[in-house]
Amino acid sequence: AKAYATGSMRFFVARLGEQIRRRLVLERDLREAMEKKQLSLHYQPKVSLHDWEVIGFEALLRWNHPEHGAITPAEFIPVAEESGLILPMGEWALTEACCQAARWPDPLQVAVNISPVQVMTHNLPEAVQRALRTSGLAPGRLELEITESVFINDNRGTVERLHALRRLGVQIALDDFGTGYSSLAYLRRFPFDTLKIDRAFVRELLISRDARSIVRNILALAKSLRMSTVAEGVEEPLQVNVLEAEGCNMVQGYFASRPMPADQVLEFVLKWRE
Ligand code: C2E
Ligand code: CA
Ligand code: CA
Ligand code: CA
Repeated sequence: AKAYATGSMRFFVARLGEQIRRRLVLERDLREAMEKKQLSLHYQPKVSLHDWEVIGFEALLRWNHPEHGAITPAEFIPVAEESGLILPMGEWALTEACCQAARWPDPLQVAVNISPVQVMTHNLPEAVQRALRTSGLAPGRLELEITESVFINDNRGTVERLHALRRLGVQIALDDFGTGYSSLAYLRRFPFDTLKIDRAFVRELLISRDARSIVRNILALAKSLRMSTVAEGVEEPLQVNVLEAEGCNMVQGYFASRPMPADQVLEFVLKWRE
């Protein structure tokens, strides 16, 4: 039994070593990806349930690795966050998204995901201001998507920094609502413009009465706090119908489109209006 335990321990250590090596390789490649412009942004539309217009697009990072092909954000964002690379990468994404959105017809908006690591730094408002100035995009057309995990530590500093961002005139959305940390206290401490209902609830919407009940109550809460609402991960027309019946403001998901390269955005908007 002892020999067996030692053996499996050796296996465990070897696997751990393998994981660490993979991490290091990924970090090295990610650094290179930034320099060699292997990163790009794809855009996914948000559709208003009021008039079925496209309101704007969410920018999502894509990494096309020269050997391994597409690497998902779920894999490389955590590596970027732990290595600090998320700071230059996030600033690049902000600037790129604002510059591309500045060429879209007014008033189409662009939403950019902001990592909690970026919110923690003191110069995020300056970075946002730089991106707005470089692009010439009106601040009201930029939305920052922030997850509730920013509130896990350093609450007062976080709230102050969010207010500093708000003073620039940009919109601030609470992303992935209903998952993770899930305390309602911060809804009172910071007035988000928009609340994004996590895909997990939308996925269950048609099969679970509880999920529908949760969605209904999230929408009521958002309405009473004067926040607009987006449901994410909407894949089927029936989900759209239910969300519309429950009073959700906007929907986003594969039912309208998968995230698309920047050069397809204008064509999509024109086609959508037909
Ligand atoms: P998120 O912000 O919640 O983005 C939504 C994710 O759901 C995207 O995955 C999108 O492609 C996917 N999605 C959209 N509609 C549907 C649908 O109908 N069905 C399904 N199954 N999935 C849908 P993606 O692009 O892989 O991004 C994953 C996460 O990576 C994002 O989640 C976000 O947290 C993070 N991320 C992506 N881009 C950035 C970025 O520029 N900065 C930061 N900090 N994080 C980013
Ligand atoms: Ca998001
Ligand atoms: Ca989300
Ligand atoms: Ca998510």
